[in-house]
Amino acid sequence: MYHPCKLIFRAVMLLLMLAVLPLGGVQAQSGVTVENAAVAVDFGKSITFSAKITASSPIQQASLLFRGVNETITRVETVQVAGDGSVSLIYDVSQNVFPSFSSIVFWFQATLSDGQTYTSAPITFPYNDNRFPWREMQRNHVTVHWYAGDDAFGAAALDAAAAGMLAMNEFLHVSLEEPVNIYIYSSIADLQNTLLLGGQEWVGGHASPEIGVALVAITPGPSQIIELQTKIPHELTHVMLYRALGSKYNTQPAWLLEGISSIMELYPNPDYARALEIASESDSLLAFDVLCQNFPADAGSAYLAYAQSQSFVTYIRKTYGTSGLGRLLNAYGDGLSCELGATSALGTPLTQLEGRWREDVLGQNKMGVASRNLLPFILLLLLVLVVPIWGAIDMLLQKRKHADQSK
Ligand SMILES: [Zn+2]
Repeated sequence: MYHPCKLIFRAVMLLLMLAVLPLGGVQAQSGVTVENAAVAVDFGKSITFSAKITASSPIQQASLLFRGVNETITRVETVQVAGDGSVSLIYDVSQNVFPSFSSIVFWFQATLSDGQTYTSAPITFPYNDNRFPWREMQRNHVTVHWYAGDDAFGAAALDAAAAGMLAMNEFLHVSLEEPVNIYIYSSIADLQNTLLLGGQEWVGGHASPEIGVALVAITPGPSQIIELQTKIPHELTHVMLYRALGSKYNTQPAWLLEGISSIMELYPNPDYARALEIASESDSLLAFDVLCQNFPADAGSAYLAYAQSQSFVTYIRKTYGTSGLGRLLNAYGDGLSCELGATSALGTPLTQLEGRWREDVLGQNKMGVASRNLLPFILLLLLVLVVPIWGAIDMLLQKRKHADQSK
């Protein structure tokens, strides 16, 4: 249960009334008072809003309005006002999901018998996953939250975040002006359950970069350090990329965002190389223009998509440098298509870039690569051969001419 916020809006309502007076003409000296506004969150199930609305004249209609702070669409629900002014609304969030650990803002509107509509001041409350006994530890602007594992686990998580930021700093400006919150679930089942409740059926970690939140699943135990140093830097990179790019984050290809986040993992995934090898041999690699929009939903293809993106971005970084990756982010941020963004930033269309990656990294089409590498030598060889042959033909022609003349 979230602590009820007991707020009285009388002063604000009066101010609002004053603000509309010059336009509204003569207005009765009446208003609406909202008291004891409270919210109870039953995470993933329901949000119960309650308050007491009173007015000097009868209330014709009252509504509760609310939205996620980053949403553009406001949800409007009509509420029944009881004789004593109390209102209550239970909103089903199992169907109408909000992102975990986001903030929700709500306010009331009431229309009185004089036809005037009054709006209360908005109240913001956190929509937190309150099913676990979260502990927290903070360093600078980074807070880690966990419920399994000891203090050393929390400290190791903060260390992983710091090491990740250090690696990221070479590549992009790390902004810590806004806080970052990292929530560590103790199992993939707990995390996936949360993500389903938050409306996203993802595997592994997840970031909500616009609210500075990273969610990861790490079980305390022998492999915790590797997992902390892999998953936390990955999700933090999403947050920092969003902070660097703003609205341009949303126009980036999925393979680029996931590839950059994957190369920031402090332990490269040793199984990615094998996955690439198998897919390459069986000709089942995914085309990067397909990975521009979304990653595949099924776990197997999604794993391959991550492996490919990690390898492809590594290849681009090696070939064009960190500045090349920066140019790519800018080009896609300007809204260029997946194919043309690469042309503009690197001088090579995406499909051609993918072809070179397949050849150089995966060793596909070896004859093609060999012949392209040998092309200058083949041309030279032809010249070497053709010139004497041409000379010989010329000599033969000259001889025949002489022979004809001497006849
Ligand atoms: Zn990711």
